[in-house]
Amino acid sequence: MESGDGSWEHCNIAFREGIDRKCTFCKIDEELRLARELGRDLTEMEKQGLNVVDESRLHIFWECDTAKNAVKTCYNGVGGTAGEVDKESFLMGKLIYCAEATQLYMLINMYIKYKIWLYKLASVKPRMQSIMDDIHNLMLSICKYKKWKNMLPLIKRQLQAQG
Ligand SMILES: [Zn+2]
Repeated sequence: MESGDGSWEHCNIAFREGIDRKCTFCKIDEELRLARELGRDLTEMEKQGLNVVDESRLHIFWECDTAKNAVKTCYNGVGGTAGEVDKESFLMGKLIYCAEATQLYMLINMYIKYKIWLYKLASVKPRMQSIMDDIHNLMLSICKYKKWKNMLPLIKRQLQAQG
């Protein structure tokens, strides 16, 4: 379902132009961990030399522990369950019930990715409560349209992580 649309192309450009290719979130974690271990702030040299994985699209939206945790928290918050999120469905989307429900499901997944991306650009770890509040508000605004309101229970069922 993922097409070669503008948003992915934008991501590619951002990745190409980035000087530091290391994962933003992993870098924050590793810096904190090492600073705690050393009992002091890291020097710029030490920061540059951190052993952190590269920030590929797959990493920043899925493989990164921070991203995975954010996705899981969102799914569990909306779906009201605790469990694992299906990678393919989250990244690529899936066909459910009808066209409107499929679109709405994918819109919410895109929205979660968009939020993670904004935090990455700001170089801060995602604030889960803030993302959850934003999704909640998105769903409230969707409910203003009767046709979409009826879809929400179906969507919520899809957003239930697999236990
Ligand atoms: Zn990472």
